[in-house]
Amino acid sequence: MGQFHQIQVGSATLIAVQDSWAAMPPTMFFNKTEDSDWDNYRDLLDDDGLINLNIGSWIVISNGTTILVDSGIGGRPTMMPLKEPAMLPSVMEEAGIAPSAVDVVAFSHLHFDHTGWNTWDNDGTPVPQFPNARHIIQQSEWDYWTSTDELKEGAGYDNVLSPIVDAGLVDFVDGDHPLTSEVLTVPTPGHTPGHVSFAVTSDGEKAYVLGDAAHHMVQLTETDWCPGADVDKVESTASRHKLFDQIEAENALIASGHFLFPGLGRAARNNGVRVWAPE
Ligand SMILES: [Zn+2]
Repeated sequence: MGQFHQIQVGSATLIAVQDSWAAMPPTMFFNKTEDSDWDNYRDLLDDDGLINLNIGSWIVISNGTTILVDSGIGGRPTMMPLKEPAMLPSVMEEAGIAPSAVDVVAFSHLHFDHTGWNTWDNDGTPVPQFPNARHIIQQSEWDYWTSTDELKEGAGYDNVLSPIVDAGLVDFVDGDHPLTSEVLTVPTPGHTPGHVSFAVTSDGEKAYVLGDAAHHMVQLTETDWCPGADVDKVESTASRHKLFDQIEAENALIASGHFLFPGLGRAARNNGVRVWAPE
């Protein structure tokens, strides 16, 4: 059963909500690495030497607006070998946030593990899960995933994208779009062309909801390492360096949906090397 974890960033509330999780060999996920590359990082792997990949979303409550960042992998069959059934809507209920109370669904990008609960399956008909929310999608991200039939299929277009557009729930935006006066979109392209992260600034405190600008704690140190899923690895590496440099300079909180749950920590230094410091 998925978990949730709530913190304050100034007067904004952040809640990590787990949809599901998966485990896989690190050399499969970071497919340019070899087993020996992980010798220094065994403590970031689980007892079986696997990457424990959380599949989670973040709820940000700011200025009275309830924002869901990404909607998980969803309840439909998936190729991803999940360790538990995806349960995001019921985990949200447990955290006190009914799906109908979500005002904004903001997407870091449109990979299938970030859009899955856009709809629920009503006997084969996809029905919007967050009917009262504006769904915020980067135009460049939309243009990419709708550019070929193959990409549309990969994004689950008919199940999770066209139903929310048809219901009139989507706003297409460009670049650094503000969600509230405290929550700003930060372009971090590369994982996908229109990928964005989100900066939360409130009462002198700061956090970044990463999206998939990074997938694993090891990337605080091995910032050049890319998962096979990064579409443009040169661009994703540049975005990751820029974002982590900024996070470190600002001593900001990191809020990740794929790091080990709850995916909350900071960038620290150990003998001059940048490392993950969980909170
Ligand atoms: Zn992802």
